[in-house]
Amino acid sequence: KLHSFIPSASPPAWLGVMGGGQLGRMFVHAAQAMGFKVAVLEPARDCPAGHASDHLLSAGYTDNDALTELAAQCVAVTTEFENVPAQSLAFLAERAFVAPSAACVSIAQNRVEEKRFFTECAKVSGVSPAPYQLIESTADVDAIPDELLPGILKTVRMGYDGKGQVRVRTRDEARAAFAGMNGVACVLEKMLPLAYEISVLTARGADGESVVYPIAENVHRDGILFTTTVPGPNVADDCAHKAQAAALEIIADLGYVGVLCIEFFVLQDGSLVVNEMAPRPHNSGHYTIDACVTSQFAQQVRAMARLPLGDVRQHSPAVMLNILGDIWFEGDSEQAREPAWDEVLVLPGANLHLYGKDDARRGRKMGHVTFIAPTMDEALGNLRAACGMLG
Ligand code: ADP
Ligand code: MG
Repeated sequence: KLHSFIPSASPPAWLGVMGGGQLGRMFVHAAQAMGFKVAVLEPARDCPAGHASDHLLSAGYTDNDALTELAAQCVAVTTEFENVPAQSLAFLAERAFVAPSAACVSIAQNRVEEKRFFTECAKVSGVSPAPYQLIESTADVDAIPDELLPGILKTVRMGYDGKGQVRVRTRDEARAAFAGMNGVACVLEKMLPLAYEISVLTARGADGESVVYPIAENVHRDGILFTTTVPGPNVADDCAHKAQAAALEIIADLGYVGVLCIEFFVLQDGSLVVNEMAPRPHNSGHYTIDACVTSQFAQQVRAMARLPLGDVRQHSPAVMLNILGDIWFEGDSEQAREPAWDEVLVLPGANLHLYGKDDARRGRKMGHVTFIAPTMDEALGNLRAACGMLG
Protein backbone atom coordinates (compact mmCIF):
# COMPACT_ATOMS: atom_id res chain seq x y z
CA LYS A 1 0.00 0.00 0.00
CA LEU A 2 3.11 2.15 -0.29
CA HIS A 3 1.99 4.40 -3.14
CA SER A 4 -1.70 4.68 -2.34
CA PHE A 5 -1.32 8.26 -1.12
CA ILE A 6 -0.33 9.44 -4.60
CA PRO A 7 -3.39 10.60 -6.56
CA SER A 8 -4.16 8.80 -9.81
CA ALA A 9 -3.27 10.37 -13.14
CA SER A 10 -6.16 11.26 -15.42
CA PRO A 11 -6.14 11.75 -19.19
CA PRO A 12 -4.93 13.90 -20.93
CA ALA A 13 -1.91 13.69 -18.63
CA TRP A 14 1.43 12.62 -20.11
CA LEU A 15 2.87 9.15 -19.58
CA GLY A 16 6.48 8.32 -20.37
CA VAL A 17 8.09 5.13 -21.64
CA MET A 18 11.75 4.16 -21.72
CA GLY A 19 12.43 2.41 -25.03
CA GLY A 20 11.07 2.76 -28.54
CA GLY A 21 10.49 -0.83 -29.71
CA GLN A 22 7.27 -2.64 -30.55
CA LEU A 23 6.28 -3.08 -26.91
CA GLY A 24 6.54 0.68 -26.52
CA ARG A 25 4.49 1.19 -29.66
CA MET A 26 1.64 -1.02 -28.45
CA PHE A 27 1.83 0.74 -25.07
CA VAL A 28 1.51 4.10 -26.86
CA HIS A 29 -1.55 2.87 -28.76
CA ALA A 30 -3.25 1.69 -25.55
CA ALA A 31 -2.42 4.88 -23.63
CA GLN A 32 -3.62 7.13 -26.45
CA ALA A 33 -6.83 5.13 -26.76
CA MET A 34 -7.52 6.11 -23.15
CA GLY A 35 -6.76 9.76 -23.87
CA PHE A 36 -3.26 9.98 -22.42
CA LYS A 37 -0.35 11.63 -24.20
CA VAL A 38 2.84 9.63 -24.44
CA ALA A 39 6.50 10.61 -24.54
CA VAL A 40 9.07 8.02 -25.61
CA LEU A 41 12.76 8.16 -24.69
CA GLU A 42 14.88 6.18 -27.15
CA PRO A 43 18.28 6.76 -28.79
CA ALA A 44 17.14 5.84 -32.33
CA ARG A 45 15.09 8.45 -34.21
CA ASP A 46 13.45 5.85 -36.42
CA CYS A 47 11.73 3.50 -33.98
CA PRO A 48 8.32 1.75 -33.77
CA ALA A 49 7.13 3.59 -30.64
CA GLY A 50 8.53 6.94 -31.72
CA HIS A 51 6.35 7.05 -34.83
CA ALA A 52 3.21 6.51 -32.75
CA SER A 53 4.16 8.74 -29.80
CA ASP A 54 3.13 12.33 -29.09
CA HIS A 55 6.74 13.23 -28.32
CA LEU A 56 9.97 11.40 -29.07
CA LEU A 57 13.00 12.29 -26.98
CA SER A 58 15.94 10.99 -29.02
CA ALA A 59 18.59 10.53 -26.35
CA GLY A 60 20.62 7.90 -24.60
CA TYR A 61 19.01 6.04 -21.70
CA THR A 62 21.49 7.55 -19.25
CA ASP A 63 21.28 11.14 -20.55
CA ASN A 64 20.36 13.06 -17.38
CA ASP A 65 19.07 16.10 -19.28
CA ALA A 66 16.70 13.93 -21.30
CA LEU A 67 15.61 11.99 -18.20
CA THR A 68 14.92 15.28 -16.41
CA GLU A 69 12.85 16.49 -19.37
CA LEU A 70 10.90 13.19 -19.49
CA ALA A 71 10.17 13.32 -15.75
CA ALA A 72 9.12 16.99 -15.98
CA GLN A 73 6.71 16.28 -18.83
CA CYS A 74 5.20 13.04 -17.48
CA VAL A 75 3.24 12.18 -14.33
CA ALA A 76 4.42 8.58 -14.55
CA VAL A 77 7.12 6.68 -16.42
CA THR A 78 7.44 3.00 -17.33
CA THR A 79 9.82 0.87 -19.36
CA GLU A 80 9.24 -1.32 -22.39
CA PHE A 81 12.51 -3.23 -22.29
CA GLU A 82 14.15 -4.92 -19.38
CA ASN A 83 17.72 -3.84 -19.97
CA VAL A 84 17.00 -0.18 -19.30
CA PRO A 85 19.71 1.05 -16.88
CA ALA A 86 18.17 0.66 -13.42
CA GLN A 87 19.93 3.82 -12.24
CA SER A 88 18.00 5.78 -14.88
CA LEU A 89 14.73 4.52 -13.39
CA ALA A 90 15.99 5.52 -9.93
CA PHE A 91 16.88 8.98 -11.27
CA LEU A 92 13.40 9.35 -12.82
CA ALA A 93 11.78 8.20 -9.57
CA GLU A 94 13.08 11.28 -7.75
CA ARG A 95 10.95 13.36 -10.10
CA ALA A 96 7.98 11.25 -11.25
CA PHE A 97 6.13 8.05 -10.35
CA VAL A 98 8.04 5.14 -11.90
CA ALA A 99 6.55 1.68 -12.38
CA PRO A 100 8.04 -0.89 -12.26
CA SER A 101 10.66 0.35 -9.81
CA ALA A 102 14.41 0.34 -10.35
CA ALA A 103 14.75 -2.26 -7.59
CA CYS A 104 12.33 -4.71 -9.26
CA VAL A 105 13.83 -4.19 -12.72
CA SER A 106 17.36 -4.77 -11.45
CA ILE A 107 16.36 -8.14 -9.97
CA ALA A 108 14.84 -9.17 -13.30
CA GLN A 109 18.02 -8.04 -15.13
CA ASN A 110 20.25 -10.42 -13.23
CA ARG A 111 19.64 -14.18 -13.48
CA VAL A 112 21.35 -14.86 -10.14
CA GLU A 113 19.33 -12.28 -8.21
CA GLU A 114 16.22 -13.45 -10.01
CA LYS A 115 16.84 -17.10 -9.06
CA ARG A 116 17.61 -16.16 -5.44
CA PHE A 117 14.36 -14.25 -5.32
CA PHE A 118 12.42 -17.15 -6.86
CA THR A 119 14.02 -19.53 -4.34
CA GLU A 120 12.71 -17.35 -1.47
CA CYS A 121 9.21 -17.31 -2.99
CA ALA A 122 9.37 -21.10 -3.45
CA LYS A 123 9.20 -21.47 0.35
CA VAL A 124 5.56 -20.41 0.02
CA SER A 125 4.62 -21.44 -3.53
CA GLY A 126 6.62 -24.68 -3.77
CA VAL A 127 7.77 -23.70 -7.29
CA SER A 128 11.58 -23.49 -7.56
CA PRO A 129 13.96 -22.44 -10.32
CA ALA A 130 16.16 -24.99 -12.15
CA PRO A 131 19.25 -26.16 -10.21
CA TYR A 132 22.17 -23.88 -11.18
CA GLN A 133 25.61 -22.65 -10.25
CA LEU A 134 27.23 -19.25 -10.69
CA ILE A 135 30.24 -19.41 -13.06
CA GLU A 136 32.74 -16.56 -12.80
CA SER A 137 35.99 -18.39 -13.55
CA THR A 138 37.32 -21.63 -15.07
CA ALA A 139 37.80 -22.86 -11.49
CA ASP A 140 34.01 -22.56 -11.08
CA VAL A 141 33.56 -24.77 -14.17
CA ASP A 142 35.90 -27.37 -12.60
CA ALA A 143 33.73 -27.31 -9.49
CA ILE A 144 30.39 -27.85 -11.26
CA PRO A 145 28.62 -30.81 -9.63
CA ASP A 146 28.20 -33.67 -12.11
CA GLU A 147 24.44 -33.64 -11.73
CA LEU A 148 24.22 -30.16 -13.36
CA LEU A 149 25.40 -31.66 -16.68
CA PRO A 150 24.23 -31.65 -19.41
CA GLY A 151 23.26 -28.04 -18.89
CA ILE A 152 22.85 -24.60 -20.38
CA LEU A 153 25.39 -21.86 -19.82
CA LYS A 154 23.60 -18.49 -19.72
CA THR A 155 25.04 -15.02 -19.24
CA VAL A 156 23.87 -13.53 -15.93
CA ARG A 157 22.89 -10.32 -17.70
CA MET A 158 21.53 -9.16 -21.07
CA GLY A 159 20.21 -12.48 -22.38
CA TYR A 160 17.04 -12.56 -24.50
CA ASP A 161 15.50 -14.66 -27.31
CA GLY A 162 18.01 -17.45 -26.62
CA LYS A 163 20.99 -15.09 -27.08
CA GLY A 164 23.87 -15.40 -24.60
CA GLN A 165 23.20 -19.14 -24.13
CA VAL A 166 25.15 -22.27 -24.98
CA ARG A 167 24.02 -25.84 -24.43
CA VAL A 168 26.81 -28.01 -23.02
CA ARG A 169 26.93 -31.78 -22.54
CA THR A 170 30.26 -32.17 -20.76
CA ARG A 171 32.60 -30.25 -18.46
CA ASP A 172 34.98 -29.74 -21.41
CA GLU A 173 32.17 -28.21 -23.46
CA ALA A 174 31.26 -26.01 -20.49
CA ARG A 175 34.87 -24.85 -20.26
CA ALA A 176 34.96 -24.02 -23.98
CA ALA A 177 31.59 -22.28 -23.83
CA PHE A 178 32.63 -20.15 -20.84
CA ALA A 179 35.89 -19.23 -22.62
CA GLY A 180 33.72 -17.92 -25.48
CA MET A 181 31.72 -15.62 -23.15
CA ASN A 182 34.50 -13.00 -22.92
CA GLY A 183 34.79 -13.31 -19.17
CA VAL A 184 31.25 -12.20 -18.28
CA ALA A 185 29.55 -13.88 -15.32
CA CYS A 186 27.33 -16.83 -16.25
CA VAL A 187 25.13 -19.42 -14.66
CA LEU A 188 25.19 -23.07 -15.55
CA GLU A 189 21.68 -24.42 -15.36
CA LYS A 190 20.80 -28.10 -15.40
CA MET A 191 19.12 -29.11 -18.67
CA LEU A 192 15.62 -30.17 -17.66
CA PRO A 193 13.29 -32.58 -19.47
CA LEU A 194 10.61 -30.10 -20.58
CA ALA A 195 7.13 -31.25 -21.51
CA TYR A 196 6.02 -27.75 -22.50
CA GLU A 197 6.51 -24.07 -21.59
CA ILE A 198 4.01 -21.61 -20.16
CA SER A 199 3.97 -17.98 -19.13
CA VAL A 200 1.88 -16.22 -16.55
CA LEU A 201 1.03 -12.59 -17.10
CA THR A 202 0.21 -10.72 -13.93
CA ALA A 203 -0.20 -7.10 -12.87
CA ARG A 204 -0.22 -5.28 -9.57
CA GLY A 205 -1.51 -1.83 -8.74
CA ALA A 206 0.08 0.73 -6.45
CA ASP A 207 -2.62 -0.16 -3.90
CA GLY A 208 -1.28 -3.73 -3.72
CA GLU A 209 -4.16 -5.32 -5.57
CA SER A 210 -3.12 -7.84 -8.21
CA VAL A 211 -4.64 -9.72 -11.13
CA VAL A 212 -3.49 -12.74 -13.11
CA TYR A 213 -4.30 -13.61 -16.73
CA PRO A 214 -5.01 -17.14 -18.03
CA ILE A 215 -1.99 -19.40 -18.59
CA ALA A 216 -0.35 -19.06 -22.00
CA GLU A 217 1.37 -22.04 -23.62
CA ASN A 218 4.42 -21.07 -25.66
CA VAL A 219 6.34 -22.75 -28.46
CA HIS A 220 9.80 -21.39 -29.34
CA ARG A 221 11.81 -21.82 -32.55
CA ASP A 222 15.53 -21.09 -32.56
CA GLY A 223 15.16 -19.46 -29.14
CA ILE A 224 12.46 -17.01 -30.30
CA LEU A 225 8.79 -17.25 -29.41
CA PHE A 226 6.91 -18.84 -32.32
CA THR A 227 3.33 -19.30 -31.08
CA THR A 228 1.33 -18.62 -27.93
CA THR A 229 -1.89 -20.58 -27.40
CA VAL A 230 -4.47 -19.69 -24.75
CA PRO A 231 -5.91 -21.78 -23.24
CA GLY A 232 -2.87 -24.03 -23.67
CA PRO A 233 -3.74 -27.46 -25.09
CA ASN A 234 -1.43 -29.23 -22.61
CA VAL A 235 -2.12 -27.18 -19.50
CA ALA A 236 -3.92 -29.10 -16.74
CA ASP A 237 -6.08 -27.18 -14.25
CA ASP A 238 -3.98 -27.98 -11.18
CA CYS A 239 -0.81 -26.92 -12.97
CA ALA A 240 -2.46 -23.68 -14.09
CA HIS A 241 -3.59 -22.85 -10.56
CA LYS A 242 -0.18 -23.63 -9.11
CA ALA A 243 1.58 -21.41 -11.67
CA GLN A 244 -0.88 -18.56 -11.14
CA ALA A 245 -0.48 -18.80 -7.36
CA ALA A 246 3.33 -18.80 -7.72
CA ALA A 247 3.15 -15.76 -10.01
CA LEU A 248 0.94 -13.87 -7.53
CA GLU A 249 3.36 -14.73 -4.74
CA ILE A 250 6.30 -13.39 -6.78
CA ILE A 251 4.62 -10.11 -7.78
CA ALA A 252 3.43 -9.45 -4.22
CA ASP A 253 6.81 -10.27 -2.64
CA LEU A 254 8.52 -7.95 -5.11
CA GLY A 255 6.14 -5.13 -4.15
CA TYR A 256 5.91 -4.70 -7.90
CA VAL A 257 3.72 -2.13 -9.67
CA GLY A 258 2.82 -2.76 -13.32
CA VAL A 259 2.68 -5.72 -15.69
CA LEU A 260 5.04 -8.62 -15.01
CA CYS A 261 5.36 -11.79 -17.08
CA ILE A 262 6.81 -14.95 -15.55
CA GLU A 263 7.97 -17.94 -17.62
CA PHE A 264 7.64 -21.47 -16.26
CA PHE A 265 8.68 -24.91 -17.48
CA VAL A 266 6.39 -27.90 -17.07
CA LEU A 267 8.56 -31.01 -16.83
CA GLN A 268 7.75 -34.44 -18.20
CA ASP A 269 6.79 -35.63 -14.69
CA GLY A 270 4.26 -32.77 -14.51
CA SER A 271 6.22 -30.67 -12.02
CA LEU A 272 6.55 -26.93 -12.38
CA VAL A 273 9.82 -24.92 -12.53
CA VAL A 274 10.03 -21.12 -12.61
CA ASN A 275 12.40 -19.89 -15.34
CA GLU A 276 12.59 -16.11 -15.62
CA MET A 277 10.55 -12.93 -15.49
CA ALA A 278 10.15 -9.90 -17.73
CA PRO A 279 9.37 -6.62 -15.92
CA ARG A 280 7.04 -5.36 -18.67
CA PRO A 281 4.38 -6.54 -21.09
CA HIS A 282 5.61 -9.67 -22.91
CA ASN A 283 5.47 -11.17 -26.39
CA SER A 284 3.43 -14.09 -25.02
CA GLY A 285 0.83 -11.59 -23.75
CA HIS A 286 0.08 -10.03 -27.14
CA TYR A 287 -2.99 -12.25 -27.49
CA THR A 288 -4.62 -10.15 -24.72
CA ILE A 289 -5.04 -7.27 -27.21
CA ASP A 290 -7.59 -9.25 -29.20
CA ALA A 291 -8.81 -11.89 -26.75
CA CYS A 292 -9.10 -10.26 -23.31
CA VAL A 293 -11.26 -7.51 -21.86
CA THR A 294 -8.13 -5.54 -20.86
CA SER A 295 -4.96 -5.89 -22.92
CA GLN A 296 -1.59 -6.15 -21.18
CA PHE A 297 -0.75 -2.68 -22.52
CA ALA A 298 -3.96 -1.08 -21.23
CA GLN A 299 -3.23 -2.82 -17.93
CA GLN A 300 0.23 -1.24 -17.82
CA VAL A 301 -1.36 2.17 -18.42
CA ARG A 302 -3.84 1.62 -15.57
CA ALA A 303 -1.16 0.42 -13.15
CA MET A 304 1.28 3.27 -13.77
CA ALA A 305 -1.51 5.87 -13.73
CA ARG A 306 -2.68 4.32 -10.44
CA LEU A 307 -6.14 3.75 -11.90
CA PRO A 308 -8.13 0.61 -11.06
CA LEU A 309 -6.78 -2.52 -12.79
CA GLY A 310 -8.88 -3.89 -15.64
CA ASP A 311 -10.74 -7.16 -16.11
CA VAL A 312 -8.38 -9.95 -17.23
CA ARG A 313 -11.16 -12.16 -18.58
CA GLN A 314 -10.49 -13.87 -21.91
CA HIS A 315 -13.52 -13.76 -24.21
CA SER A 316 -12.22 -15.99 -27.05
CA PRO A 317 -9.79 -18.86 -27.49
CA ALA A 318 -6.69 -17.36 -29.10
CA VAL A 319 -3.48 -18.31 -30.79
CA MET A 320 -0.75 -15.81 -31.62
CA LEU A 321 1.79 -16.28 -34.40
CA ASN A 322 4.94 -14.19 -34.29
CA ILE A 323 5.91 -12.66 -37.63
CA LEU A 324 9.68 -12.62 -38.14
CA GLY A 325 11.48 -10.95 -41.04
CA ASP A 326 12.32 -14.37 -42.50
CA ILE A 327 8.98 -14.64 -44.31
CA TRP A 328 9.86 -11.62 -46.47
CA PHE A 329 12.49 -13.82 -48.16
CA GLU A 330 11.86 -16.85 -50.33
CA GLY A 331 14.46 -19.59 -49.80
CA ASP A 332 17.97 -18.09 -49.84
CA SER A 333 16.85 -15.05 -51.82
CA GLU A 334 18.11 -11.64 -50.70
CA GLN A 335 15.18 -9.96 -52.46
CA ALA A 336 12.47 -8.97 -49.93
CA ARG A 337 8.81 -9.26 -50.97
CA GLU A 338 5.60 -8.55 -49.04
CA PRO A 339 4.04 -11.56 -47.31
CA ALA A 340 0.55 -12.62 -48.47
CA TRP A 341 -1.41 -10.49 -45.98
CA ASP A 342 -4.39 -10.37 -48.35
CA GLU A 343 -4.71 -14.15 -48.02
CA VAL A 344 -4.16 -14.25 -44.24
CA LEU A 345 -6.72 -11.52 -43.59
CA VAL A 346 -9.42 -13.56 -45.30
CA LEU A 347 -9.20 -16.06 -42.44
CA PRO A 348 -11.98 -15.41 -39.90
CA GLY A 349 -10.81 -13.94 -36.62
CA ALA A 350 -7.35 -12.98 -37.94
CA ASN A 351 -5.94 -9.76 -36.48
CA LEU A 352 -2.72 -8.46 -38.03
CA HIS A 353 -0.35 -6.33 -35.96
CA LEU A 354 2.73 -4.97 -37.75
CA TYR A 355 5.21 -2.81 -35.89
CA GLY A 356 6.03 -0.29 -38.63
CA LYS A 357 9.59 -1.52 -39.18
CA ASP A 358 10.67 -0.66 -42.72
CA ASP A 359 13.45 -3.16 -43.32
CA ALA A 360 12.67 -6.82 -42.87
CA ARG A 361 15.63 -8.89 -41.66
CA ARG A 362 15.83 -12.58 -40.84
CA GLY A 363 15.17 -13.14 -37.13
CA ARG A 364 13.75 -9.62 -36.62
CA LYS A 365 10.34 -9.35 -34.95
CA MET A 366 8.17 -7.54 -37.51
CA GLY A 367 4.72 -8.16 -36.08
CA HIS A 368 2.28 -10.83 -34.99
CA VAL A 369 -1.10 -12.22 -36.01
CA THR A 370 -3.65 -13.29 -33.44
CA PHE A 371 -6.40 -15.71 -34.41
CA ILE A 372 -9.48 -15.65 -32.25
CA ALA A 373 -12.37 -18.03 -32.84
CA PRO A 374 -15.40 -19.49 -31.05
CA THR A 375 -13.41 -22.71 -30.54
CA MET A 376 -9.72 -23.46 -30.15
CA ASP A 377 -9.90 -26.01 -33.00
CA GLU A 378 -11.02 -23.27 -35.35
CA ALA A 379 -8.31 -20.88 -34.15
CA LEU A 380 -5.64 -23.56 -34.61
CA GLY A 381 -7.02 -24.45 -38.05
CA ASN A 382 -6.64 -20.80 -39.11
CA LEU A 383 -3.12 -20.68 -37.66
CA ARG A 384 -2.14 -23.73 -39.75
CA ALA A 385 -3.70 -22.18 -42.84
CA ALA A 386 -1.80 -18.92 -42.25
CA CYS A 387 1.50 -20.77 -41.78
CA GLY A 388 0.91 -22.37 -45.19
CA MET A 389 0.21 -18.98 -46.80
CA LEU A 390 3.19 -17.26 -45.24
CA GLY A 391 5.64 -20.06 -46.15
P1 ADP B 1 15.78 -16.05 -22.79
O1 ADP B 1 16.13 -14.90 -21.91
O2 ADP B 1 16.59 -16.09 -24.03
O3 ADP B 1 14.31 -16.17 -23.03
P2 ADP B 1 15.49 -18.53 -21.29
O4 ADP B 1 16.14 -18.77 -19.98
O5 ADP B 1 14.03 -18.31 -21.25
O6 ADP B 1 16.26 -17.33 -21.97
O7 ADP B 1 15.82 -19.74 -22.25
C1 ADP B 1 15.36 -19.79 -23.59
C2 ADP B 1 14.75 -21.16 -23.88
O8 ADP B 1 15.72 -22.20 -23.70
C3 ADP B 1 13.62 -21.52 -22.98
O9 ADP B 1 12.41 -20.97 -23.43
C4 ADP B 1 13.65 -23.05 -23.05
O10 ADP B 1 13.06 -23.52 -24.25
C5 ADP B 1 15.13 -23.35 -23.13
N1 ADP B 1 15.69 -23.57 -21.78
C6 ADP B 1 16.19 -22.62 -20.97
N2 ADP B 1 16.63 -23.12 -19.80
C7 ADP B 1 16.40 -24.45 -19.86
C8 ADP B 1 16.64 -25.54 -18.95
N3 ADP B 1 17.20 -25.35 -17.75
N4 ADP B 1 16.28 -26.79 -19.35
C9 ADP B 1 15.72 -26.99 -20.58
N5 ADP B 1 15.48 -26.00 -21.47
C10 ADP B 1 15.80 -24.74 -21.14
MG1 MG C 1 12.81 -16.77 -21.83
